Amino acid sequence: MPVFIQKLAVLGVGLIGGSVALALKQAGAVGEVVGYGRSQANLDNACSLGVIDHIATNLAAAVQGADAILLAVPVGQMAALMQAIAPYLGADTLVTDAGSTKQDVAALMTQHLPAHLPNCVPAHPIAGAEASGASAARADLFVGKNVVLTPSSATSPAAVARVSALWQACGAKLSNMTAVEHDAVFAAVSHLPHLLAYALVDMLAQRDNAETLFNFAASGFRDFTRIAASSPEMWRDIALANRDALLAELAHYQTHLQHLQAALSAADGAALEAVFRRAQAARAPWLAA
Ligand code: NAD
Repeated sequence: MPVFIQKLAVLGVGLIGGSVALALKQAGAVGEVVGYGRSQANLDNACSLGVIDHIATNLAAAVQGADAILLAVPVGQMAALMQAIAPYLGADTLVTDAGSTKQDVAALMTQHLPAHLPNCVPAHPIAGAEASGASAARADLFVGKNVVLTPSSATSPAAVARVSALWQACGAKLSNMTAVEHDAVFAAVSHLPHLLAYALVDMLAQRDNAETLFNFAASGFRDFTRIAASSPEMWRDIALANRDALLAELAHYQTHLQHLQAALSAADGAALEAVFRRAQAARAPWLAA
């Protein structure tokens, strides 16, 4: 593949930023990758692993002369970075992000990068893991995975095409949604499950017999709680950024639990089994797809 990004600036060289860098390098799509971060140890690691080519010691150096900038920090950090890079953006510099919430990121782009909006394309790769940092980065993380773009009416089609090419070079498939639709969907299928997993582990960990409980917890517990190993900072930011949609999903879930609780109290096996059967039947085609 010919190089179509001469200089990529990755702001936040963790699992996602590092994996994009590795994937673009492997595809031969990028000339050089400059990384900027807040942890020197992580950046040194990223350099020695070949995830990035250079460490930028300040944002001006990271961003100046970059064709594309990828914001891959927790969403609560996006505002400060956008504000800081604004003076250094070239007229054609593409700005995109990998944040898990999109209405907040789009609003921050409007607020902090108003002159640059046509070149700003909010994006969310639907791929990841509970591991963090550059050492967790993998070139194949996005292969066959969806990336949701949420361009606004201010986004230029040319910028969307450039971001699409970037993600396609990483092996990803592209979908388009509005930011509102995106945040509602991911509140239900991603943000709620993370909240539930953290809550269950925390609840059991507070018990006097927590050690016994964890000693006997097996694969069901492991599957249900795998995502509670994810970065607490990242998930704090996601929960707060998508608070309204997440609260709505939590309320739906509580209603559903009350229904199960009532069935259990009444020893209504038919009602319990009906829910379990519906859920089993709904999950099977999803898993096979
Ligand atoms: P990560 O913790 O692996 O990496 C984030 C990196 O950003 C870290 O290296 C951290 O040091 C750096 N950082 C934090 N604040 C910074 C700041 N102010 N300035 C510079 N660097 C800073 O996290 P990740 O999993 O790569 O997530 C990055 C983004 O991608 C988040 O917005 C997250 O919501 C999103 N995302 C994550 C996943 C996932 O499964 N992990 C999936 C899709 C999207």
